[in-house]
Amino acid sequence: MTEPMTGIATTRVTKSYPGSERPAVHDVSLHIADGEFMTFLGPSGSGKTTMLSMIAGFTPLSAGSITVDGREISRLRPHRRELGVVFQQYALFPHLSVERNVAFGLAQRKRPKAEIDRRVGEVLEMVGLSGMRERFPRQLSGGQQQRVALARAVAYEPRALLLDEPLAALDKRLRDQLQREIAHMHRELGMTFLFVTHDQQEALTLSDRIAVFNEGRIEQLGTPAELYERPRTLFVAQFLGESNALRLRPGEVTIVRPERVTLHTGDESVAAGQQRRTATVTDVVYVGDHSRIWLRYADGARGCAVLGAGTAHEYRPGSEVVVAWRPEHEAVVPDTERSPA
Ligand code: ADP
Ligand code: MG
Repeated sequence: MTEPMTGIATTRVTKSYPGSERPAVHDVSLHIADGEFMTFLGPSGSGKTTMLSMIAGFTPLSAGSITVDGREISRLRPHRRELGVVFQQYALFPHLSVERNVAFGLAQRKRPKAEIDRRVGEVLEMVGLSGMRERFPRQLSGGQQQRVALARAVAYEPRALLLDEPLAALDKRLRDQLQREIAHMHRELGMTFLFVTHDQQEALTLSDRIAVFNEGRIEQLGTPAELYERPRTLFVAQFLGESNALRLRPGEVTIVRPERVTLHTGDESVAAGQQRRTATVTDVVYVGDHSRIWLRYADGARGCAVLGAGTAHEYRPGSEVVVAWRPEHEAVVPDTERSPA
């Protein structure tokens, strides 16, 4: 069997910063396929930026190797890796026009003027800023500056685009809009994207696959649906969204997502073969297109059900309900949550 040759591969990559007890990234091996949209998702401090920065070339590895299309790159200087990078802060050159910011990587690579002109036009059109070539960064909104940063990063046609929380500084509506634009760019360019976020919704929306980081390791790697519906650990289950986490048997936790449970006022309407537990409604939250019914089970566990518009009015805080679900919608994970001593 041969190793995968295309794409980005890391083998047993570790980063220990001097003076810290635990490595920031610990023994991470992964393969990002050519053209894939891969996301590193995890809480603050879990090692996402360190991992991206080692791939980009800004942080030296303590151990391991990184290849792009089979070629070892971990000792190359950043600009020799042919990777585009976008950070949370726009980091445009303030004294250069939009046009010259975007042309920067092309000019550095001594591409002919006609090619630079054409390419700058193409990528500015892709991010919807064709009319702003002459402006300076200070004359642009935060969202526009981040669009310029995206255009600049892909202008010279890098091997892949690395994005470290590029939307984290923007307000929610702008973030949603730029999410769609980034998805569109990915489809249009067919380029490998490596995206870092701590926002599970953003990760689920954008990614082909997600690597969930926890304390410097990848806890699980899979498609959004695999991670959401089939988490393998309690950490992944909890990080990817709300769930009904039920301790039905010792040593394990049964996870059922809020969209997978139905609520009943009595046992009679629950179909045969379904799992069921009684719970008390603690809160009913109207969200417009759906409502969230918050629950407390007899053992004190919190849970949640999502109901379509128009059915939630039957439930009020204090109501006793039967929560039912189909066994195939359960994910069972080891119970790793220790009660505080
Ligand atoms: P994330 O991007 O997931 O928030 P980071 O990669 O920034 O995580 O950080 C991972 C761990 O490494 C954290 O414990 C952080 O404090 C530590 N760390 C990050 N950068 C440095 C640095 N330059 N020097 C020392 N420790 C660092
Ligand atoms: Mg970070």
